[in-house]
Amino acid sequence: MKTIGYAAQSTTSPLTPWEFDRRDLRGNDVAMDILYCGVCHSDLHQARNDWGWSSYPVVPGHEIVGVVTAVGAEVTKFKEGDHVAVGCMVDSCQHCDQCDKGEEQLCRHGNTQTYNGKDRITGEPTYGGYSRHLVVREEFALRMPEGLDMAKAAPLLCAGITTWSPLKTWGVKAGTRVGVIGLGGLGHMAVKLAAGLGAHVTVLSRSADKEADAKALGAHALLVSSDAAAMKAAADSLDLIIDTVPVEHELNPYLPLLDIDGTMVLVGQLGPIPNMSSLPLLLGRRRVSGSPIGGIRETQEMLDFCAAKNILPDVEMIRMDEINHAFDRLEKSDVRYRFVIDMSTLEQPAA
Ligand code: NAP
Ligand code: ZN
Repeated sequence: MKTIGYAAQSTTSPLTPWEFDRRDLRGNDVAMDILYCGVCHSDLHQARNDWGWSSYPVVPGHEIVGVVTAVGAEVTKFKEGDHVAVGCMVDSCQHCDQCDKGEEQLCRHGNTQTYNGKDRITGEPTYGGYSRHLVVREEFALRMPEGLDMAKAAPLLCAGITTWSPLKTWGVKAGTRVGVIGLGGLGHMAVKLAAGLGAHVTVLSRSADKEADAKALGAHALLVSSDAAAMKAAADSLDLIIDTVPVEHELNPYLPLLDIDGTMVLVGQLGPIPNMSSLPLLLGRRRVSGSPIGGIRETQEMLDFCAAKNILPDVEMIRMDEINHAFDRLEKSDVRYRFVIDMSTLEQPAA
């Protein structure tokens, strides 16, 4: 199937329209028309090869919602016309202990990323959701719950699950004291989901600019991370911190905020941690962990939770041809709080 998308052709080139093929349907495949795709900071990282493994052209996009247009002969979960969603993975081995548990993101043989990955059968590159159509095996398509606004829900597929998974892994419930570093796409979903679970939520931001927003999103407090006195006063006050900062940064200023046995989960930056000290870890028996996206079962659970609680991302809808400007704004943290591309604009000329 011929399709069109927006691709980065090199580290430095802007995203431009690019025609490519989607594979013919395999027996267990679902074909979909993409309606909306969220813009994750990971899209920007990979378009620019920040992580060093990008293979061009890169068609980003892993927060995908749409409508099923055809299904393979063996497909049982979906039919034409169903509303579906696809996140950061499109395949995994399906038989290791992690896949058996529904933790495909931790597949022993590596999951297949929605873009910038390699198809497990043909070895061909995978291309993401900044495009008109997608073909995906049915196990990696999520059912969109009735009542969840399709135009806003796309960011749940990455920002939502990436923050939901650590909240669940670390048993967040009513009264748990959760900190969220960085109020961006992931951060604002962490706030909404943690608050939805009944947690007491504190946002850690670089300035007080987002205080009113943080509270409107469900946070109880905002701490300015550069305010040394406020940070000191908040020592030992959190059970879990989710760190969404996308660039290299020190953890030392944040670790003392954790109470004894508290955990900081890194979901943002990939790479070295500067000046890491064992002191706050040792003294408070604190832990530092990390967490990659989440499994399919957990993603469905999160979508159903959001539908039941009417939790939706705060989105700014853009046209496909506004993507390069959106990337520039994302880099400056100038988005409240997630860009979503209206894919119906893909082939239309700019107004
Ligand atoms: P985003 O929308 O740009 O939000 C990041 C937030 O971090 C900003 O809003 C800002 O919050 C803070 N920040 C930005 N630059 C900073 C700096 N130089 N120093 C300190 N804080 C800074 O990005 P996102 O889409 O949420 O993604 C965040 C990171 O998570 C990215 O690196 C992305 O690749 C990664 N990610 C990981 C996974 C995973 O599986 N673990 C999944 C998706 C994304 P304030 O203005 O409030 O300070
Ligand atoms: Zn993402």
